[in-house]
Amino acid sequence: MPDLLLIGGATEVMLDRMGAKFTIHKLSEIDDFDAWAKNQGDKVTAVATNGHDGVKPHIMAALPNLKVISCYGVGYDAIDTDAAVARGIKVSHTPDVLNAEVANTTLLLLLAGFRNFRHDEAHARSGAWEAQGNAPLSRSPDNRTIGILGMGRIGQEIAERLQVFKPTILYHTRSKKDVPYRYVADLTEMAKASDVLICITPGGPSTEKLVNAEVLDALGPEGMLINVSRGSVVDEAALIDALRAGRVGSAGLDVFEKEPHIPDALKAMDNVVLLPHVGSATVETRAAMGALTVDNLLQFLADGMLKTPVPECADM
Ligand code: NDP
Repeated sequence: MPDLLLIGGATEVMLDRMGAKFTIHKLSEIDDFDAWAKNQGDKVTAVATNGHDGVKPHIMAALPNLKVISCYGVGYDAIDTDAAVARGIKVSHTPDVLNAEVANTTLLLLLAGFRNFRHDEAHARSGAWEAQGNAPLSRSPDNRTIGILGMGRIGQEIAERLQVFKPTILYHTRSKKDVPYRYVADLTEMAKASDVLICITPGGPSTEKLVNAEVLDALGPEGMLINVSRGSVVDEAALIDALRAGRVGSAGLDVFEKEPHIPDALKAMDNVVLLPHVGSATVETRAAMGALTVDNLLQFLADGMLKTPVPECADM
């Protein structure tokens, strides 16, 4: 059986399916990777990993016969695809199967922010309602102008699921899409026009700190920033400054610059809703992502092809 290096975790179902076709080596159980790789690295032809751990350059370099990397996640910015393509290594990811769940997470952050969920839940649970009276009024999510940065698979699902709130939807991407929403070529202009700015682009160098101090200032004191993309897309220090100074009204964040670290400044803020990168993290969606991750590996074993290659590998 071919040898597979597993980076990060996998569900029992994934382990069973992969284990039937591959000899699995778990990185988490290897004490000294360099020593291990010297003896066994050349046997490994497949890697299963996830969007957070990716494949570190020294790991890729230590596997000279690597042929395929299957990523459990749609975002693959933690994998150097240029290096992979240059070596003829095919890379797959898990697009589409998580669109709905990430959109649900976005709606959760939006509703929690407008309806003051954190405060009201605490008010009910703590007995403050009985002791102090009614909670302060919150704000309605209805009829808002919502700017979406990124209008791909997930961005479009978010826009569709937002329709229940009767929004005006704007979007910004590098190229105009065939969608029934208004394209805004300039991100700062879109932020200025929006009550809510939702980030759902990939991570990586092309989107690094796209949401900077200027964009945040344009969003303004009543504005809400929601980030479900990657922490790198937002200048976190600038966001903290803007929230502290009241130059941005509130934020809902699922992703952070140095995960799993969340800056104490953000944890201390009342007008911020924080989630531990759980955009796609439901039993149902993770099962679908796991199935596709393994399907790609099995397809590769069968005919050298991938079900869902990343775009950079589509022609390989
Ligand atoms: P797609 O590739 O389908 O869409 C990406 C969109 O971003 C496109 O509309 C693209 O348009 C736009 N985009 C890319 N680069 C830029 C740029 N520099 N400036 C402006 N827009 C840009 O990806 P998905 O919708 O499937 O996924 C998006 C991302 O969501 C993932 O890569 C991942 O990082 C994140 N994600 C987060 C999860 C979570 O748990 N929070 C879970 C799943 C995904 P154009 O190319 O025209 O610019």
